[in-house]
Amino acid sequence: MLKPLAALTSFCLFCLVSTAQPANNAAILARKQVPVLCYHQIRNWRASDKQVDKDYIIPPATFKAHIKMLADSGYHPILPDELYNYLTTGAPLPAKPIMLTFDDTDGDQFEVARPELMKYGFKGVYFITTTDIGKNRHYMDKNNIKQLADEGNIIGCHTQDHTNFKKYKGNDWYTQIEKPTKKLETITGKQIKYFAFPFGEWNAAGLPELHKRGFKAAFQLTSPRDPNDPIMTIRRLLGCGYWSAQTLDYNIKHDFGRVASKKVVLARAK
Ligand SMILES: [Zn+2]
Repeated sequence: MLKPLAALTSFCLFCLVSTAQPANNAAILARKQVPVLCYHQIRNWRASDKQVDKDYIIPPATFKAHIKMLADSGYHPILPDELYNYLTTGAPLPAKPIMLTFDDTDGDQFEVARPELMKYGFKGVYFITTTDIGKNRHYMDKNNIKQLADEGNIIGCHTQDHTNFKKYKGNDWYTQIEKPTKKLETITGKQIKYFAFPFGEWNAAGLPELHKRGFKAAFQLTSPRDPNDPIMTIRRLLGCGYWSAQTLDYNIKHDFGRVASKKVVLARAK
């Protein structure tokens, strides 16, 4: 009688222990990646905008078409805590999960993206460069950021002044990571748990500094993830300004998480 009970007890203990432990990197890497879109400026192109800039500048009409396509196609935007729980514990996600992120504190993210997302009940993640807060009329101010947080969006740290993460040494960890994070926590009244690398650039040597400062996860662009720290090198896809909604849909399905192929490069040229 005792033997099966003991076996059951140890099985349950095993369950408890295995759910309590952080997931290992191999388990995280084995899970299907959730597409994370990354937007910057949302405005009409100017004659002075170069082709390369159009990766980062999306006309409002195109942006609206992207969001409408996501809604019409049944994508479900999730937030970083859900992604973190999925990656580290295998917690379930809604069908067709996706994440919408916005970098660099641009005011048009508040003016254009926020109402567009609200139209569909979507929420997003806004990575803020603190030196740009309220800098001029092109940037969000403190009230905008507080309002986004109050409305259930997530505010993340994108450094103080967008200095490349690979160059940090000495006091930079305080200036570029700790100080702006504290500032965002003061503005929002919430803990800041997520980080995005300026230019998507990172080095493995710097990643422990993010863990030390309590970040749960960090977002880059399209480099392969660090096999030793995939949670701090989550990939994102630029929502390019010259992509139609159909091209975005194609790239979400076929490009995300892969090294760019010839086919995708052709699709991008559309
Ligand atoms: Zn940036």
